[in-house]
Amino acid sequence: MSLIRLAYASEATFDAQPVEKGVEPHVARILLTSRKNNARANLVGGLYYGNNRFFQYLEGEENEVRKTFGRIKEDDRHRNIMTLIEEPIEARTFSDWSMKYVPLSADVRRFLERHGLDSFNPQAFSSEQCEEMIQLIRDSKQGQKLVNHDETVTAPSRKPSGFSPALRFGLIAAAVCLVGALIYAGSLL
Ligand code: FAD
Repeated sequence: MSLIRLAYASEATFDAQPVEKGVEPHVARILLTSRKNNARANLVGGLYYGNNRFFQYLEGEENEVRKTFGRIKEDDRHRNIMTLIEEPIEARTFSDWSMKYVPLSADVRRFLERHGLDSFNPQAFSSEQCEEMIQLIRDSKQGQKLVNHDETVTAPSRKPSGFSPALRFGLIAAAVCLVGALIYAGSLL
């Protein structure tokens, strides 16, 4: 079995929608399909999305990587797909991720600043910059707060607190009394 790794950059064809739960909705759908398919094909890797551009990295058995990339290239949700890395590897470097998702976050912005880049444009990355991006995917933590493209940290959504159990009981009791009173009043008429 021969293993390969593949990285590419592309441009999204959709207009970015407001972030929901830390992820742009089109990207969320792509992730859902990717995680299902990649887990089945034993592929690991990560996806960056920012400035309406993608950077994706995949590792796995050569046939599976090529088959998946074949489908990805046909997808009209992105265009100008540019292969940045495609080469054999000895072993996987991602242990348990079928498709890690890292939004354009603080660490990516620091990376852009370090390289004097004013926007996320992976199609223009040098090979060193690609390797650095891959390392960023590896290092990013699953549990980290998701950050939207404006770097506004999306706080974990809290359920509205609603009524306390005691208040709820009181309201139900009052409603039952009211209904009872109405029935009694009705019977007197
Ligand atoms: P299907 O059952 O054919 O579709 C899965 C879902 O995606 C459905 O809800 C369907 O409505 C929706 N969908 C498919 N194509 C479109 C479209 N053109 N526009 C809107 N919705 C659509 N697939 C992987 O398996 N692994 C990956 O790592 C991966 N990475 C991707 C990265 C990017 C940037 C993009 C754009 C796509 C990626 N995809 C990936 C998706 C891939 O292009 C195929 O859509 C997918 O592999 C089809 O798999 P399926 O036949 O199981 O899904």
